[in-house]
Amino acid sequence: MSSPGAAADFLRRFGIVTALLIPLAIFSMPGMKLLGYGEFDLRRYVEFGVGTIIFYFALIFFEHAKHEIKMKSYGMMTLVSLAVGSGYVFSAVATFIPQVTTEFYLEISTLIWVLLFGHFLEARSSSAAGDALQEVAKLLPKQAHLMEGRDVRDVDVETLKLDDLVLVKPGEKVPADGVIQKGEANFNEAHITGESQPVKKGKGDRVVAGAICGDGSVEVTLDKVGENSTIGQIQKLILKAQQTKPRAQRLADRASKWLTFVALGVAITAFLVWSVIVGQTLVFAMTLAITVLVIACPHALGLAIPTVSTIATRLAVKHGLFIKDLGKLEQVKDVTYVMFDKTGTLTLGEFGVVKVTGEVLGIAGSLERQSSHVIGAAVVKYAQEQKAKFEEVKQFKNIAGKGIKGVMGGKEYWVGNWELVKDKLGKPVESEGNTVVYVADKDKVLGTILLADKVKPESKVAIDRLHKLNVKAAMMTGDNEQVAGQVAKELGMDIYFANVLPEDKYKKVEELQRQGEVVMMVGDGVNDAPAITAADVGVAVGAGTDVAVEAGDVVLTASNPENIVSLITLGKKTYAKMVENLVWALGYNVVAIPAAAGVFIPWGFRLRPEIGALAMSLSSVIVGINAMSLKRIKL
Ligand code: ADP
Ligand code: MG
Repeated sequence: MSSPGAAADFLRRFGIVTALLIPLAIFSMPGMKLLGYGEFDLRRYVEFGVGTIIFYFALIFFEHAKHEIKMKSYGMMTLVSLAVGSGYVFSAVATFIPQVTTEFYLEISTLIWVLLFGHFLEARSSSAAGDALQEVAKLLPKQAHLMEGRDVRDVDVETLKLDDLVLVKPGEKVPADGVIQKGEANFNEAHITGESQPVKKGKGDRVVAGAICGDGSVEVTLDKVGENSTIGQIQKLILKAQQTKPRAQRLADRASKWLTFVALGVAITAFLVWSVIVGQTLVFAMTLAITVLVIACPHALGLAIPTVSTIATRLAVKHGLFIKDLGKLEQVKDVTYVMFDKTGTLTLGEFGVVKVTGEVLGIAGSLERQSSHVIGAAVVKYAQEQKAKFEEVKQFKNIAGKGIKGVMGGKEYWVGNWELVKDKLGKPVESEGNTVVYVADKDKVLGTILLADKVKPESKVAIDRLHKLNVKAAMMTGDNEQVAGQVAKELGMDIYFANVLPEDKYKKVEELQRQGEVVMMVGDGVNDAPAITAADVGVAVGAGTDVAVEAGDVVLTASNPENIVSLITLGKKTYAKMVENLVWALGYNVVAIPAAAGVFIPWGFRLRPEIGALAMSLSSVIVGINAMSLKRIKL
């Protein structure tokens, strides 16, 4: 019921029924009284005719009801069909029995009219949410490294052609199907095989689009582009996101099933009590029973959550948030600690080289060309500027959180942090708050490259705003203690962890969780993925690697840490709105159902079916307006 086609169909039916309602109103009994003309035989037949056509346009509800019954998930459609069906049959029979002067044509037609409009809104809003996601998906990374001779150029995946040679770096997705020409790596093909155990592949092996390159880098000649490419993967991502449901929705579904049973039970009881026990006419008892069915239609309940989540999705998109799993939005509100990765998340990740010792630029540049790390990019850029000579690298390997290694001219080299070279160097060199990259062969450290990164201007604001929301902030990094301490102090972090090995990142998350904290993890790197998965809410910085995007529940399309604050505020407000809407949608039944069943008749109050239909649609309207007010919140 969520395609644009469904919305158009409901709108068409709504239009036709709107037009038919005019003659029906004129020829109905209330119309007759209002216009002051006398009863004539033809009136009843015209009414029957128009009523029947309107009923015909409501048959779509019966189709949905059939589906509900088949799936044993009795809900609104079952009730609507019962109410509309029994109302119509009763009226049709009454038309041909002159003694019976009660009919429900106008009441059930108004009900059908309201319901068609409600369903039109619902169908339109869910397809609009899909459109919004489509928009944001355009911002997700989908670049490939195209090799042209010795040069590597970043191009949009759409522009890739058959037989193009592309470089796939650690943590990245294979952009299109092809055959490996050079290099080897472990590939995760869980998206196809469902098997999360990585598969080792090398020269001559086939790789498929979407497989994630693990610890190495490879050159692939493409033999299938287009549909099977990364674009197709993103489409799938959107589709999956649309199918996720907030937990509140499952609650609403369950409530709606219960309401169906309660309504049926009350309707039957009311009919029996009023006809058999009290001794009223069949018509009277029937009217009450139908009113109960009409009023209990969980229409508002059906709208309560989708209206809120549609608006929440759109707000999220506006603030650079792609929510992959709507179910997690409710957990976002409970977050007490946000753990940030440092490099690329809190800092710009645009390293500038400050100082180089030793003749190491050629070695480092050649090796770093294969790397997907921001430090690698900075080293390559600087080496190129300095006209360093690049050489061919074999057996390239990424050592996540530490650095890289590879073979050049038959000799093995390492490039990375002190952890990587500590067996060759007793203690780290003085870093003066810079990130130090060591370059070493198998015997000794050949030299170092000192790099400086800058804190993002938004980071400080984001941390301050988190504190105002009573949420604490932590930072962890594989970088050295000096850099980490400086950044943490500058930003006012509550706690920080330096020299964290990749395999320990998720342990830090679990450590906080054991202390009773609800942890959100924000990261971008290959080494952040396990921590993102382990956290209560995982957030991937979209400009980062594909592994992180895969692991996250939410993806930040702009790498602005302030959007984390928006996410938490959105989570809180959205949840509050969902609860309010459930209360509105369910609460009115507590009064309305007994009123419809005639409980208050001894005190002189009787609810007419048309007023019941109005009350029911009013509750839908309230739910809708309440959801709309979410649009005005400040994030
Ligand atoms: P963070 O946790 O801050 O995102 P990483 O875990 O990605 O940082 O990296 C940790 C450290 O490992 C870096 O600070 C750097 O010293 C080193 N490192 C990782 N990858 C590379 C690389 N390709 N070249 C040089 N050093 C690297
Ligand atoms: Mg990082």
